[in-house]
Amino acid sequence: MRLAIDEARRAEELGEVPIGAVVVYEPIDPATRRPLAEPQVIARAGNLRETTQDPAGHAEFLAMKQASAALGAWRLAGCTVYVTLEPCIMCAGLMHQARVDRCVYGAPDPKAGALGTLYRINEDERLNHNFTATPGVLGNECAEMLRAFFARRRRK
Ligand SMILES: [Zn+2]
Repeated sequence: MRLAIDEARRAEELGEVPIGAVVVYEPIDPATRRPLAEPQVIARAGNLRETTQDPAGHAEFLAMKQASAALGAWRLAGCTVYVTLEPCIMCAGLMHQARVDRCVYGAPDPKAGALGTLYRINEDERLNHNFTATPGVLGNECAEMLRAFFARRRRK
């Protein structure tokens, strides 16, 4: 999550809302459930929605696309997405489509959160893939970064 926070700060320097994400890959042997290799960061991204004027320019969305490119696979099994803000419906949808193992996020998002706050996409039994969501990791730090950003912006 520290690395995701670094990405959020880099995004802020570009004039973006400070949100960052990394994808960690740890392949697991399906038979023994033991790790086959050390976990490694395979993707990192910050929010780029303003810079690229792309409605899909969310940090975790970009990080998942990078992770797929790195693994040469659309399926992100063995991957955990770390993101500073609770994912929206689109990003939670991509996590479902990519079959991620887990998402760890910092601050909850009362206006758009889809992994526990407004929706629980990760544990919707109607969908063909469920994954673990772990909220609140360095949550105060992630929330404070956003709060300070919007307070500064309002003063301008
Ligand atoms: Zn999103």
